[in-house]
Amino acid sequence: MSELDPTLDRAYRTVLDRNPGEAEFHQAVREVLDSLNRVVAARPEYAAGSIIERLCEPERQLMFRVPWTDDKGNVHINRGFRVEFNSALGPYKGGLRFHPTVNLGIVKFLGFEQIFKNALTGLPIGGGKGGSDFDPKGRSDAEIMRFCQSFMTELYRHIGEYTDVPAGDIGVGGREIGYLFGQYKRITNRYESGVLTGKGLAYGGSQVRTEATGYGTVFFTREMLATKNRSLSGRRVIVSGSGNVAIYAAQKATQLGAQVVACSDSGGYVVDEDGLDLDLLKQIKEVERGRLTDYAAQRPNATHHAEGSVWSVPCEIALPCATQNELHAEDAKSLVANGVLAVAEGANMPCTPDAVAIFADNDVLFAPGKAANAGGVATSALEMQQNASRDSWHFSHTEERLDQIMIDLHDRCATAADTFGEPGNYVAGANISSFVQVADAMLALGVI
Ligand code: GLU
Repeated sequence: MSELDPTLDRAYRTVLDRNPGEAEFHQAVREVLDSLNRVVAARPEYAAGSIIERLCEPERQLMFRVPWTDDKGNVHINRGFRVEFNSALGPYKGGLRFHPTVNLGIVKFLGFEQIFKNALTGLPIGGGKGGSDFDPKGRSDAEIMRFCQSFMTELYRHIGEYTDVPAGDIGVGGREIGYLFGQYKRITNRYESGVLTGKGLAYGGSQVRTEATGYGTVFFTREMLATKNRSLSGRRVIVSGSGNVAIYAAQKATQLGAQVVACSDSGGYVVDEDGLDLDLLKQIKEVERGRLTDYAAQRPNATHHAEGSVWSVPCEIALPCATQNELHAEDAKSLVANGVLAVAEGANMPCTPDAVAIFADNDVLFAPGKAANAGGVATSALEMQQNASRDSWHFSHTEERLDQIMIDLHDRCATAADTFGEPGNYVAGANISSFVQVADAMLALGVI
């Protein structure tokens, strides 16, 4: 952590005082402010307009009761959230997370990150995030549907194609978006396709949306490596997680010639020296909703490890795609000791600040999530474009658009890092470039 300029320091203290106990939110704010000393010195109008203070305070925070009945007739009460953080660039945009760890601080950290990530895409989307502490694990389809319907019965009044456009995140995929969209349509009596993204292809979804976050992370990694005249071909890669982001990051890395040898879930990790069998992994994780122990049982050379860290497995490219603060300083040290070249965050804030500092000290290329995983939300914005024009694009066309967005996004980060005297620092580049864009829009819109 660097010493903060007095303007930034004051804003940061206000965030700490006003949002007690929200450690992940504090961490996400601090990570952005740490990059901004030179920017606020060069642009005094930001301090004069209290832009930092305004950015750190969500425009609106919604918290609501979500009652639902399980298959045995028991009534459960969960808590629902939607934090509409910033709409200077467009309607609030960001996913919904269903996971028992969800609380207001987690949603605020994710919503705050989303503002900058969405700005980096170059597309007209503001930042928001939502979710619930509902645990989908082990729940039947009917229970998931009833939960989603109850959640939407409150949420519908706050969202809309020009207001706030939710999508998926951990625990919310195509199935959940379908139930949420169905309930929205039923309550409002409107076929408003652009109100949610991540929809199924049968009813207004976009090609490549499912693959987009993972693919985008690998496109960004390819661009970073290219600055050092390196490529993915023949590289040994590890992903963490085994959800949507991890699976499609592994798929794109494999298509570009890399060998992906390990992934993880909450029960441990598998190493498969033959390269992950992605068809089998998809079958187990997407269709059967099973565990990695099932994967290991069906692959002769795969080993399952219930203890220890996936990051102890040697690799050249590490793609943390599971969840926040999953990769610690000790993991970063073992990756460096094993000769890692590049780390790109497919998840939101998976590397702790200590881990990021270790990568920087050892000249490891490092892509923060708000840049590396922006391909998901960028493709959501492409879904919104298709919905607005009542059109649907082919896979190859949509993938080319995503690829170009990630190339431009990489260049934007690299250029901002160079301009502010931090060449190769993608954390600084991503924070500065997106901050300036949002701040300039906020200044133009007046004190609102
Ligand atoms: N939850 C994803 C993210 O973290 C996607 C959000 C969206 O598509 O709106 O960016």
